[in-house]
Amino acid sequence: MSNSSQKQPEILDGLSGEELFSRLNVGLTYRDFLVLPGYIDFNPADVDLETKFSRNITIKRPLISSPMDTVTESNMAIAQALMGCIGIIHYNNTIDSQVEEVRKVKRYENGFITDPIVLGPNNKIADLDLIKESHGFSGIPITEDGTPNSKLIGMVTNRDVDFERDRNLNLGSVMTTELITAYEGISLLEANDILKKSKKGKLPIINKQGKLVSLVSRSDIKKNRDYPFASKDANKRLRVGAAVSTLPESRERVDELVKVGVDVIIIDSAQGNSSYQIDMIKHIKSKFPDLDVIAGNVVTKSQAKNLIDAGADGLRIGMGPGSICITQDTMAVGRAQATAIYQTAAYASQFGVPVIADGGISNIGDMANALAIGASTCMMGFMFAGTKEAPGDYFYENGIRLKKYRGMASMEAMKTGGAKRYFSEDQKIKVAQGVSGTVVDRGSVLNFIPYLIQGLKQSFQDMGIRSLSSLHKSLYAGELRFEKRSEQAQLQGSVHGLYSYTAPTMRVE
Ligand code: 5GP
Repeated sequence: MSNSSQKQPEILDGLSGEELFSRLNVGLTYRDFLVLPGYIDFNPADVDLETKFSRNITIKRPLISSPMDTVTESNMAIAQALMGCIGIIHYNNTIDSQVEEVRKVKRYENGFITDPIVLGPNNKIADLDLIKESHGFSGIPITEDGTPNSKLIGMVTNRDVDFERDRNLNLGSVMTTELITAYEGISLLEANDILKKSKKGKLPIINKQGKLVSLVSRSDIKKNRDYPFASKDANKRLRVGAAVSTLPESRERVDELVKVGVDVIIIDSAQGNSSYQIDMIKHIKSKFPDLDVIAGNVVTKSQAKNLIDAGADGLRIGMGPGSICITQDTMAVGRAQATAIYQTAAYASQFGVPVIADGGISNIGDMANALAIGASTCMMGFMFAGTKEAPGDYFYENGIRLKKYRGMASMEAMKTGGAKRYFSEDQKIKVAQGVSGTVVDRGSVLNFIPYLIQGLKQSFQDMGIRSLSSLHKSLYAGELRFEKRSEQAQLQGSVHGLYSYTAPTMRVE
């Protein structure tokens, strides 16, 4: 045989995913292994992170905010969707409040304030003063009955009330009634044009019946930016998910969420392999066959099988890795997160069901590792809880700006309904599986996500991988190579030996 016809043996170093996770017989987490570097012939900007969130929903960036009451309500979900990700609205609230949060996301239009603060003709100038004090603006629409969706009858601005001594006067007597308005359907560009020409501060948008629909603000014009990656549905509305429990009340919750256009339902349960969850999946899929349902949480192949067989369009993986979570200590049940992801993803990928790496992600490297071992998206509470868009106010402790972050099975959250996830809703004695704590300020999600994405793209470049889909192909072909890290290797892989240093804050201005 001539030399030229001999196939060069492949130079394979390290371990395949299968060898790392199935042969070593030990539960691994993100810091226990590394991806070996590949060959670079492209820029980070060439990396495509488009991914499947669920069977029928594709998003441009693989990040998801957790359904937790200190993480995702409408502000967070709007920012996530603008950035090409998705936020999942928590359900530690009444059906009406959850539905309202979903509605706000679905109604959101970039540059249009769809739930403006309004007053009625019988409100006093003093009421306007209060709004000015707490919100810092004064151009307020006056509607017939003082609610946002009623007929627009005037506007009050500083100029109308500045020199008025009697702050008890009704706004109806001082408001401007000759208004410049525009009809709904107008583009932001056209609205901005009208504002410039009219030199007004606010442009009320009304419908054919003269009812207020939204408001465009001159001071916001400069802030408006383009969101080319935004996650949108077929009607160009932002996408949003909502979590529900397996309890019977959730059936009504789902009905109401569907009415306002929710894109995906996540059945939220700490241990998802249950008859309650399977009944719930079947119920939702038979009533709303076009609505994607993500089931979980699971960590083993057999758990995954049951939920996929029942009709799940996606799986949420993780039992106990969360930053606020004490399940593994308290219950001694769960699985090391990287092993859980690899095993469930390898199984689910055969059925076209994407998996979400949920919990335990605290830096860009964890995200890259989760995706490299089969996850299609990363769900995070810890990473997003300190951002401006998370519910709750900032406060200071020892000079550090913080926000509160709590597990949904912390005593505190369970007292207000969070126990639904843990089958302990009606039990008198509650055993906490989570804690309450604080996290540092991370600025706005609108700046933080681009930072995370840039880091992820650089990580892909080091792996020699141009897209998330080719990452998974290379994983299952055994071409992506890994290595387990010894404890010493882990120590050496972090900062060591320095007398002092400044850690990166991950707060992006
Ligand atoms: P993190 O991003 O903070 O590490 O983890 C967030 C994830 O932890 C959530 O998406 C959810 O799956 C899980 N989680 C939320 N609250 C609790 C809790 O109180 N106990 C446990 N065991 N897990 C929780």
